[in-house]
Order: sequence, then structure tokens, then C-alpha cells
Amino acid sequence: MDRIQLSIVIPAYNEADSIPELVEWIYRTLEGVPLSYEVWFVDDGSTDKSWAVIRGMREKYPTLIKGIRFRRNYGKSAALNSGFHASRGDVVITMDADLQDSPEEIPELYRMIREDGYDLVSGWKKKRYDNAFTKNLPSKLYNAVTGWMSGVSLHDMNCGLKAYRGDVVRTIEVYGEMHRYIPVIAKWAGFRNIGEKVVHHQARKYGYSKFGLSRFYNGFLDLATIMFIGKFGKRPMHFFGALGLLFFFAGFCFVSYLIFTKYAYNIFGMTDRPAFYISLVMMIIGSQLFLTGFIAELITRNAPERNHYLIAETLESTHL
Ligand code: UDP
Ligand code: MG
Repeated sequence: MDRIQLSIVIPAYNEADSIPELVEWIYRTLEGVPLSYEVWFVDDGSTDKSWAVIRGMREKYPTLIKGIRFRRNYGKSAALNSGFHASRGDVVITMDADLQDSPEEIPELYRMIREDGYDLVSGWKKKRYDNAFTKNLPSKLYNAVTGWMSGVSLHDMNCGLKAYRGDVVRTIEVYGEMHRYIPVIAKWAGFRNIGEKVVHHQARKYGYSKFGLSRFYNGFLDLATIMFIGKFGKRPMHFFGALGLLFFFAGFCFVSYLIFTKYAYNIFGMTDRPAFYISLVMMIIGSQLFLTGFIAELITRNAPERNHYLIAETLESTHL
């Protein structure tokens, strides 16, 4: 497979109006830049004319434009994942199709990956042109919580405009709605050199935003999953077992205390005391967590990728 220097991956869901302008803009920006590049559009099951438009663009720029079309709408993460695995560039840049991200950032992002040694550079929409209450404020809160939980502090984790070293995106897997946390996923995969660049942002010109309020709770549930898999994915018993032991032990101490008071001070009617029921419940929850840990261990043992590790380099003996 012949490599090229840069792949631009663009997920598009009903963005027919924006795509031609975006292609021309990318073309104009990179016209004078000595870079070999390709543009991958991933049509995420659009119901408008997006695919026809992408085909039209390919006719106009046959060597530049490439496309994948999903049969139905699978979501931005799926689109990115497919684009990532199809791309061949040493550097991969993602951007939204809606003209909110500016292609003029591309040369500098490329340079930061190539020369400054970053694994990933995330755009930072310092000045945003979205609705303040439904987008900008929640986004600040979300970035703060994500940074605090994951240890990856970025001002704008979910910015669509990002640049990666090629092997980063071809190593990681993005699914569900996890595109919001690609830097966290990359960090767990061992790519720690994560940078940030302030980027221009425009108001949406055509179409409408595809993400509603569900992105808040879905987003935080996904973060919990990523954190859990990253930390305990290969040793779930350490999570469930520890929690289970803690519960069981607390309940056991409680019950022992109740029994002790019953006989030592002749306080009868132990079963009338709320503490009795609380301790029973704790012991039951504790043993269930413990058993959950065992089941989770059995599942990870059976996973085909249980011994799959991301190897950066190997030094082997050479036979002379
Ligand atoms: N997108 C997609 N599949 C979806 C939803 C969105 O490929 O199911 C694409 C969309 O076409 C756009 C990008 O993801 O290129 C970002 O979406 P949008 O602009 O609606 O999000 P916002 O900027 O409002 O967060
Ligand atoms: Mg947008």
C-alpha cells in the first residue's frame, strides 16, 4: 500500500449543501502546499443528496476525493472509525463537514504532528459560534469533568478538527459515541503526547446540528465506560472484587456489632433495628459484586484479544 502524507477524514450526515464549498476550500488552501493528500468523506447514511454530491466532487477531483457510504446512519464515531481504517496518510486530520471548521488550519496542524512530535493535536474553538446555553456552557462543564476524571485536560475535547499521527488512529477503535473522547482513548493506548491548537470556528451555514440533549447523559456514560475499560478492562475482579469485599466486610462488622450488643447488653429485638437490614443488604450486595467480578474475569478470559497488547517497537536478535 503506497503511503501519502496527509489524509483528511470528514464524516458527513446530511451535509449536501456544505460539501462542495468545503472541498473547494480545502483544495484552495492546499493548492500551493507541497503535500500529497487525500480526502475521505464518510457518508453516514445521509437521506439527502450528500452521496451524489460526494460522487460529483470525485468526478471533479478524481485523485483527491474518496468516499465510503454507510447503508444507514451509524453515528459520527462509526464514520470516523471507518475513515481512519481506510486512510493511508502519515498524518490524519479530521474535520466536520458543516463548514464550522476551517481548512486553513490544516497546514499548521500537519506541521505540529510532523515537526513538534505530537501524537495528537486537538483543535480548541476558543471563540465559538454556537448557542451559548445549549452548547458553549455545557461544553465548558463537560471539558472540566472529563479532564478531571481522565487526566487528559483539553479545553475542547470534542472539537471535530483534530490531527493525528497515522498509527494513532489506525490503532485505536472508536465506536458508540466515543468520538467525544478520542484523546482519552489515545492516552489509554499509550499515545501521551497530546497538544492543542487554537482554531477558528464559524457558525453553521447550512443544515442543522445533529446532536441533541441526549449527548449529555450519553456522553458521561461513555466516559465512565472508557475509564472503566481503560483501567480494569483486563482485570475486572480488581474492581468488582474490591468493592464486593468492602461491602461485605462493612455489613459483616455491622452484624457482628448487633449480635454483640444483643448478648452483651441484652438488647433484644435485633431484627427490629434498621441497622440489621442495612447490614444484611450490604452483605448481599457485597457477595453479588464479588460474583460479578468472577463472571467478568471469565468473560475477559474468553475474549479473543485477551493477549492483545499495543506494541510500539521490538528489538530482535539478528541471525548473522
Ligand atoms: N455527523 C455524522 N453522523 C451523525 C451525526 C453527525 O457523521 O450521526 C457528522 C456531521 O455531518 C458533521 C459532524 O458529524 O460533519 C458534526 O456534527 P454537527 O455539526 O451536527 O455537530 P455540532 O457541531 O453541532 O456539535
Ligand atoms: Mg457542527
